[in-house]
Parts: sequence; C-alpha cells; structure tokens
Amino acid sequence: MPVRDRCGIFGVYSPHKDYRAAYAVYNGLVSLQHRGQDCCGICVQDGKGLQVETGLGLVSDVFGREKLDSMPGNIAIGHVRYPTTGGGGIKNAQPILMSFTRNDFAFAFNGNIANYPALRKQLMARGLTFMSDSEMELVGMLYSIALNRKDNIYEASREVMEQLDGSYNLLFLDGDGSLYAVRDPQGFKPFVVGKDSKGNVFFASESCALEAVGVKEFRDLKPGEVLKVSKEKGLHGKQAVEPKLITHCMFEFLYFARADSVIEGRLNNDVRKRLGETLARMHPVEADYVVPVPDSGRNFAVGYSRASGIPYEEGLMKNRYIFRTFIMPEQELREKAVRAKLNPVRQIIDGKRIVLVEDSIVRGTTLKAIVQLLRKAGAKEVHVRVGCPPVIAPCYMGMDFPTYKELAAANYSVEEIRKMIGADTLGYTDLKALGEAIGLDGKLCMACLTGKYPLKHTPKKGTPITCC
Ligand code: SF4
Repeated sequence: MPVRDRCGIFGVYSPHKDYRAAYAVYNGLVSLQHRGQDCCGICVQDGKGLQVETGLGLVSDVFGREKLDSMPGNIAIGHVRYPTTGGGGIKNAQPILMSFTRNDFAFAFNGNIANYPALRKQLMARGLTFMSDSEMELVGMLYSIALNRKDNIYEASREVMEQLDGSYNLLFLDGDGSLYAVRDPQGFKPFVVGKDSKGNVFFASESCALEAVGVKEFRDLKPGEVLKVSKEKGLHGKQAVEPKLITHCMFEFLYFARADSVIEGRLNNDVRKRLGETLARMHPVEADYVVPVPDSGRNFAVGYSRASGIPYEEGLMKNRYIFRTFIMPEQELREKAVRAKLNPVRQIIDGKRIVLVEDSIVRGTTLKAIVQLLRKAGAKEVHVRVGCPPVIAPCYMGMDFPTYKELAAANYSVEEIRKMIGADTLGYTDLKALGEAIGLDGKLCMACLTGKYPLKHTPKKGTPITCC
C-alpha cells in the first residue's frame, strides 16, 4: 500500500555560516503542525554533508534543544507527516536521504501522486528496487534517472513533471549545499517563498510558517516553477513547465490550511467569512445564537452571524490537547474523540435555538455527535450550516477523504443527512458561492464536490484510494 503524503514542508537557506537553520526549521514546522502530527524530521547541510534526524510525534517532542544543537548548518529542510491507514510510523518519516550517481540528496514531499502504481510498476520493470511504499521514494528515483541524463535541475524537473500526475510540492537539498523547491504544474497545494531582513530565504507549505520566523514579504511559487538557492547565485529559478490547467485545492482555503495563512493572495479567514455570509443569505433561520464547531467552523460562523444579525457565541469549548478528529484513522476512535474533545457550555445552550456552523461534512459522524451534545445540553433547536458544498467524491490529490462508501453526500440526499445527524434544518453553500468566495477565475480543484478530476488519468469510480 503506497503511503500518502499530505504533510507540511519547510526549508531555509541562510548565506550566513553561523546561522542555525535547524532552529528556524523547528519553528516553521511547529507552525505547520496542523498539517501532520504522526512524525517529523529535519535535515541540515553543514558544509560537510547532509544530516537527517526524524522521530515519531510532535515537533516539540522529537526535537529538544540538545538535538537541535547537535545539528549545525545554515541550510535545512523539514517535514511534518499526517497519519494515514497503513502509512503511519517512523519508516515513512521524511526528509529521506538518497544517493545518486553524481550527488546525495535529501527530499521532503507534500502531495499525492495519482499515477503512483503505474510509475512504480514501470520502474520495477526496469530493475529498480523500492525500499518503501513512499511516493517520495518514487519521485526521488525519477529525479535520479533524470539527473543522470541531464545535469540541469530545470530540465530534469521538467522530465519528472511530465511523468507525474497529481499534486506535489518538493523541497530538497543536495550534498553541495544547494536548496531546491518544486511546485507541481497545477498548483494543487499551497507553497510560498520569502526572505527575511537578513537575506535568509525560506520556503513553506503555508505563509503562517513564514510569518512565524519573521518573514513579512512572501509570494506563492508559480505552478510548474522550480527555484534554487545556491552560494553562487542566491535565489533564482525557472518555469520548468508552463501550466496548462491550474487547479488550486479549494479545501486548503476552507479547512486544511490555517485561517491566518494567505494562499494565492487570499487570507483564508476572509474566504471563510465570506462563505459564512453567503450561507446566512442562502439559508436564513430564526435563532438565538450562532455557534461554531471549534475551530474549523469559527470563521464561517463569524460571517454567518454578521450577515444574519444573530449573536455569535462560543457554545462549545474545545480541549486543545486532543488532535482533530478528522485525522484519526479509525471510526470508533473518531466518535469517542468528539466527546472527549468538545464540551457544550450549558449556560449558553440550554433552552436556545442554535445555528451550528461547520466548515464541511465528510462522513457526518462527527457532526451527529456534536448535535447530540448540544441537544443533551438543552438546545431547543439545532440548525446546521455548512461552508463547503456537499463532498460527493474521494480525493486522489492528497486530502484524506474516505471512499465513496463512507462519504455522506455520495450516498444520501441533504434531507437524509439532516435526519442522520439529527438537525432541525441543514443548509450547505453551493459551487457558485464557493467559486465566488475564493475567486481565482475558476482556477480551482473542486473534484471532491463534482466527481470530475483534473488529472491526466481520471480514476474510475470505485478506484481504491489506497492506490494514491
Ligand atoms: S479533490 Fe477536493 S480535497 Fe482533493 S485536491 Fe481537489 S478540491 Fe482538494
């Protein structure tokens, strides 16, 4: 079973020899911790070679001061990894080291290669042996072949990109002390680059991580762009492939990326609030309070409250020391975690008509448990409003959605889902509202809402997600 990597990556190149890059990467990864908590790793280049340290758990658990002090070097990359069925554990931690004919490399990867099985088969038929099920290893092998033929990173990247179908952002270091960043030609996942006032160059999956290390100005890498930072030329790059179709993942704006991150010039907080306002216009209701599902529904709820005039209240308290339920692999675990994680504030809820606002419904089980919590706390009515239109299809580009069988909206009507979750009314936004809230002239992936995949090889309905 291949390993899916929907993670967070961070990299820094400092021209100052005494700069402690491992510390900067540590801080960047902590800011990206929401993108993955299963395991993490940092690779530093200290002028002599590449040193990789990885571990299971949170960045703050794996990297203490002692370990960071043992990792000198002014150039580094790091990775946080998301747990998936069959894909957790230290064996899948990154960055991974690979030795090519001409150089050593350390790679960190965020994405999902939809044609992984076919490419792996092709490489195995050529006699290549895989040590893991990681997509990163496959991408590394493609680079190894391409760089053997073309000692030019841009041409090699083009050759690799032409073979890959799916989403991928890459950061890699070579043994000579250069740092590279690659964004797929469709720009599925967010990826930003910025410089601080001392001339240090940073790359991150999200802008919130750049801001955490003091970067004020940043930009998105262009889809298909390859950037290199080297001693000789500093930051430079090229468009390795001209994008034919740009498809930014809409779910990054709505859920996965942090609300304070800016993707393609849009603050996620604003996008979510706009959708909340639209929800209030599309699905008005008489109620006493607008209550968000913390933290995912918060910005949408602020928008709903503003547009409807219904007061906003934090009627559900979250235990911040329990991870988000969405990423827990087992269903039973997920349901128990909702009860452990959220506590309804009886003084706010009792006897009141509540508009409960959430970002999305995937399986519906989490929302069902929350509606039950509110009813037990005395809610007179619970009206559920959802910022994302119904999710009807799995994601083959890196988001950990379940199969068709488990997706509520793939199997049930809105009315059936309302009954299933026990709400008095249920209202979603629609594709038009979503497109308008994000903008970007339709350069969005909405495949999980439409079933139409912007890939070279469209997966057939029923294709197991385990293939990518
Ligand atoms: S299918 Fe959905 S979650 Fe996956 S990349 Fe497209 S928009 Fe994002």
